[in-house]
Amino acid sequence: MVAHFPVVIVGGGPIGLALAADLGWRGISCLVLEQTDGRIAQPKMLTVGSRTMEYCRRWGIAKEVRAAAIPADYPRVSLYATSLRGKAVMQFTAPGPGNNSWPYGPEPRERCGQTWFDPILKKFAGSQPGVSIRHLCKVTRIEQSAEAVTLSVEDTHTGKSETITAGYLVGCDGAGSFTRGAMGINNIGLEKATRSMNMFFECDDLVSLHDKGPVLMFHPIRKVGGGLLTTIDGKRQWRLSTEDFADDYKPSDADVARRIREAVGCDFDFRITAIVIWTRRHLIAERYREGRVFLAGDAAHQLSNSGGFGMNTGIGDALDLSWKLEAAVKGWAGPGLLDSYEAERRPIALRNIEEARGNIAGGRGLALGDDIDADTPEGEATRQRIRDLILKRNLHRIEINPGVELGYRYEGSPIICPDGTPEPPTESITYTQTARPGSRAPHAWIDGHDRSTLDEFGQGFVLMSWGASKEAEAIAEAARQRGLPLRVVQGSRETAPLYEYKLVMVRPDGHVAWRADTAPANSFDMVDRLRGA
Ligand SMILES: Cc1cc2nc3c(=O)[nH]c(=O)nc-3n(C[C@H](O)[C@H](O)[C@H](O)COP(=O)(O)OP(=O)(O)OC[C@H]3O[C@@H](n4cnc5c(N)ncnc54)[C@H](O)[C@@H]3O)c2cc1C
Repeated sequence: MVAHFPVVIVGGGPIGLALAADLGWRGISCLVLEQTDGRIAQPKMLTVGSRTMEYCRRWGIAKEVRAAAIPADYPRVSLYATSLRGKAVMQFTAPGPGNNSWPYGPEPRERCGQTWFDPILKKFAGSQPGVSIRHLCKVTRIEQSAEAVTLSVEDTHTGKSETITAGYLVGCDGAGSFTRGAMGINNIGLEKATRSMNMFFECDDLVSLHDKGPVLMFHPIRKVGGGLLTTIDGKRQWRLSTEDFADDYKPSDADVARRIREAVGCDFDFRITAIVIWTRRHLIAERYREGRVFLAGDAAHQLSNSGGFGMNTGIGDALDLSWKLEAAVKGWAGPGLLDSYEAERRPIALRNIEEARGNIAGGRGLALGDDIDADTPEGEATRQRIRDLILKRNLHRIEINPGVELGYRYEGSPIICPDGTPEPPTESITYTQTARPGSRAPHAWIDGHDRSTLDEFGQGFVLMSWGASKEAEAIAEAARQRGLPLRVVQGSRETAPLYEYKLVMVRPDGHVAWRADTAPANSFDMVDRLRGA
């Protein structure tokens, strides 16, 4: 008998796992098919953004992620210097879990490499009833009809093939997405690709070799080489990344060792653990949907790692899609709901690609003179010119970007009801909370620091009401009749100024869908719009 699942996810990377986690949490059965054995040899992703952390909080795994991350008191210092032992040109400290300087939400961004993050996500997803995760299963064929998707799956261990059917299929199968190819969806290139190299090494006491103290991100300023040296575990694991290699470049251990020593600025003992050559691309799929098949994560967009947006953008995709798939499976979705996924998420990917491109471009060409390290007035003048350039280019945005992480909004979405207020300016380094429709619903602590307003959201819609019980009841009745899951929550006096209106409707993904001081003229019309009818 052919196995059937409401949703099949191709790819068990962070996006496939996040989608499975959220679907499972919603009680939707799904199957994740991953072609590898699931082991992660070297981490790509190191930065878990604060919105992703907020979703981890929803699933009850934020503490576990934090415990696996680099220590909370590890300084979030970004340093610009010629080498770790060279002259410091500039440094700044990003807000982090250790310095209580994150006013925007309950969960600051974290540094928890993929080696630790993915297994936590996998354990949670796999613990949800209805979620199956199968490894060594490669999807080799995808076909669809109006009613279902049929796929062929090869067991990469035995070579045996089986057929599975699905109500919906989501391709979370990464940059080379088989799903994208099978659906005939093209990628649109937004910039020339560059070849980069990640050099992983271990050193027990790197911090004792220089006078800069513990550093999270070190940007070596060099005419040739440059790049980024970053800690992986806050202890002994490091990664040096440099770019602009020729296509035929073949690294030798000696060459890699030289680059590492140049970045640190002295000869020292270390152990190279891996060398990975990869291609930095800025790409977006021309569309995110073909019938019952969707793309999410790197399958839909690829962006430079400058800023730590890649996985976090993909997890945003997963969380936008999961409640819509739930609605489709449970039967309360209107015909336009699943189409709104691309309408909402593709513009966010384009925005984040632009941010990442700006960051990578801004970090280039900083080595303005040959005397950067010189202990002379001329050397100091050169360092000052570089400092000015770093400030002019706002390079702290690489590590401090709450507007990118939390300030994305679904402007013009067909399933959001605009309230007529003007669109606020786009933010990246700063972030201003707002309950304007399309935005992430604002965070405020309630009950001291135990609960956030965000803890109310997730399963179903939440209608926040500040003294508008009768109007809220009219809307709740319309929702009931349409099958749209909705809870009415009385807002507190403290949170009223943040939400501004007496009635604010928050979607299952935590974004505001509608707000007003009174019920709409026809609550059914409003509810229908929110469910894509
Ligand atoms: C150097 C570097 C640093 C980065 N740092 C960050 C960061 O700090 N923060 C951040 O947010 N992002 C970062 N990124 C980006 C991030 O790693 C990616 O965006 C993220 O891994 C994408 O996840 P994904 O699940 O979409 O794809 P992937 O991680 O590529 O996973 C796709 C999975 O699909 C499987 N698969 C493929 N084809 C099939 C098939 N036919 N059948 C079954 N399985 C299949 C693959 O085996 C793979 O496991 C970084 C990227 C790089 C290169």
